[in-house]
Amino acid sequence: MKQLYLKRGKEDSLLRFHPWIFSGAIHHMSSEPEEGELVELFTSDNQYIATGHYQIGSIMVRVLTFEHESINQQFYEQRLKAAYNVRLALGLGDESYRLVHGEGDNLPGLIIDIYGNTAVMQAHSVGMHHDRQTIADALKNVLGEKLQNIYYKSETTLPYKADLHQENGFLLGGSADDIASENGLRFHVDWLHGQKTGFFIDQRENRKLLGEYSKGRNVLNMFCYTGGFSFYAMRGGANLVHSVDSSQKAIDLTNANVELNFPGDSRHKAFAQDAFHFLDHMPTKYDLIILDPPAFAKHKDALRNAIKGYIRLNRKAFEQIQPGGILFTFSCSQAVDKNQFRTAVFSAAAAAGRKVRILHQLHQPADHPINIYHPEGEYLKGLVLYVE
Ligand code: SAH
Repeated sequence: MKQLYLKRGKEDSLLRFHPWIFSGAIHHMSSEPEEGELVELFTSDNQYIATGHYQIGSIMVRVLTFEHESINQQFYEQRLKAAYNVRLALGLGDESYRLVHGEGDNLPGLIIDIYGNTAVMQAHSVGMHHDRQTIADALKNVLGEKLQNIYYKSETTLPYKADLHQENGFLLGGSADDIASENGLRFHVDWLHGQKTGFFIDQRENRKLLGEYSKGRNVLNMFCYTGGFSFYAMRGGANLVHSVDSSQKAIDLTNANVELNFPGDSRHKAFAQDAFHFLDHMPTKYDLIILDPPAFAKHKDALRNAIKGYIRLNRKAFEQIQPGGILFTFSCSQAVDKNQFRTAVFSAAAAAGRKVRILHQLHQPADHPINIYHPEGEYLKGLVLYVE
């Protein structure tokens, strides 16, 4: 295995178990590794400190272990088993849940979502991509009969410069049912073309809460994607539900999912439109609005514009919502922290001149855990607001 030696003092973050090493921390290497290769990290006084996947870019190593151990099927089995035990402790394990949340489960670069008896696996690093079959075998041993299919979906998540020409496809099984369930509601999982692993599992608990606020309300679900919030609102007894997304494919999926749960129900209507345009030309008045936009800031340098975007969007919602209305507003940008998001929403409320109370502060669910040594893993935040 190739060895990378750190500059003096650069081992501090590793001693605190942070799982990334940036390129600027490396003093020299025994020889240049290929992207995705396993490498060992040593301090400036030649002490072993960690083993991880090498990658080209500003994060140069994603650490898999701080112990001197082999990275093989047994290693992955142990990590997957530990992750599975957490989900069992949470009472998950039957419907849809996230089994592996990258750094949050000590497996940087790997995401595994479970939909019934199908796992959707996503690699964000070339190292995890190389190990995909070993991980698939390990996963089979951990989940046993509960697992019938593994769909590998990394076409859009691998660093494109690595030029792997990776195609999505099954690593196990192949006849997966494309219908999964969550809190008793059903939805289609678009293995082939869907964003992320096909569904946004991270909003599960927040959707449930929304259902509890929906009775008798006119609900507007902005950035609806697969319509998750919409069918929860319908179950909650909403008066009407309007779903908006700029993508026609998302609107088709939303309609299909609503139809699956509430066939022929005329309370729902979907619009393929830009969110900002829709808010300026609303067909009716709403007293429950959900804003769950895509990440406005993918990187720190996009932060200023992202915050402006959140202010503009939330301001429009505050201006339009009926008195006594409830706003569920989210940010899934990792680069925007809780306080920055809350300040943006505060600015929007002030600009619209509405009286606003915070009822709930929302976050990612427990199956998207945050490794305490890797606070960057916190990304989803939301506020439920009462607008007088
Ligand atoms: N709320 C969804 C997830 C939203 S993902 C859920 O619970 O599953 C973000 C969605 O925003 C995507 O479907 C994308 O097509 C849509 N989108 C992006 N830009 C948009 C815009 N300007 N107007 C409307 N929708 C937009």
